[in-house]
Amino acid sequence: MPPLVFPSPSLSTNLSSLHHSTIPCATHSRRPHLSGDPPRTVVITSGKGGVGKTTATANLSASLARLGFRVTSIDADAGLRNLDLLLGLENRVHFTASDVFSGECRLDQALIRDRRFNNLHLLCLSKPRSKLPLSFGSKTITYLVDALKTLEPDNPVQFILIDCPAGVDAGFVTAIAPADEAILVTTPDITALRDADRVAGLLECDGIKDIKIVVNRVRADLVRGEDMMSPLDVQEMLGLPLLGVIPEDAEVIRSTNRGSPLVLNDPPAPAGIAFEQAAWRLVEGDTMTAVALEEADRQPKKGFGWFSFFGR
Ligand code: ADP
Ligand code: MG
Repeated sequence: MPPLVFPSPSLSTNLSSLHHSTIPCATHSRRPHLSGDPPRTVVITSGKGGVGKTTATANLSASLARLGFRVTSIDADAGLRNLDLLLGLENRVHFTASDVFSGECRLDQALIRDRRFNNLHLLCLSKPRSKLPLSFGSKTITYLVDALKTLEPDNPVQFILIDCPAGVDAGFVTAIAPADEAILVTTPDITALRDADRVAGLLECDGIKDIKIVVNRVRADLVRGEDMMSPLDVQEMLGLPLLGVIPEDAEVIRSTNRGSPLVLNDPPAPAGIAFEQAAWRLVEGDTMTAVALEEADRQPKKGFGWFSFFGR
């Protein structure tokens, strides 16, 4: 992996922007082609807390489910469990994976079915604000994920998404253990990037080579004014392929409070469209290309306004 080189404080050089291809949000003329061998187990991680891992997990899960894939999302952030809130399922969590291992319930009883999509399930590792038992480590979660993969042989799960806790301690080591792929979420600031770079190194040491980045909370006006790192800067610093660029969007907070992932908004919100596009790329094993600001300015404007400023 290339060394992490941070840009000059002025950000005066190498400014760039991205513009997205224009994938329509809820109505698609085709279904994405599933690349890789299902079930695909993807961990959503970051290092730094509060950068958007749980938001990304909820929105990718809902997008994949709406596209017709069978999805199980695991909330592995035991202490600060909140994926259930973002999916609006907090009142339905009666059993958790810890209860499965203590013999209180079966695995299928701990799977919480989403209200909107029959093909989306949530699995929490433990009750809110309770710590995982010390015995719940890498081996246990790998056993759990293997059991999920074979739970319904006639209708097997296609995506298992794992919402990872912040930090790089035991919770992180546990969450990444069963994953074959990783989505590294970062915001375009130095502290998040430093942590993301460290996490990328740890993922590679653990044998996870398929790592893609999502740059969250990007503000086009600040990038243009050279007050925020561009997604291209971030990508070059981390030396990893780009899965998506998500704008700062107040609708994210509103949808969190409603317990409804933003990708389900009608009319679609900018961050929802960006998450939807990221989900398509995830399915198809695709990435996006960041383009330099000057190049973006030369491109004909098309599609969703803000997105015409982005990548391809
Ligand atoms: P993490 O799981 O990494 O700790 P969260 O997904 O819980 O992060 O997000 C942290 C906060 O940031 C939440 O309040 C969330 O609503 C907000 N947030 C995340 N992404 C965006 C965005 N693109 N625009 C605006 N707010 C965002
Ligand atoms: Mg979280």
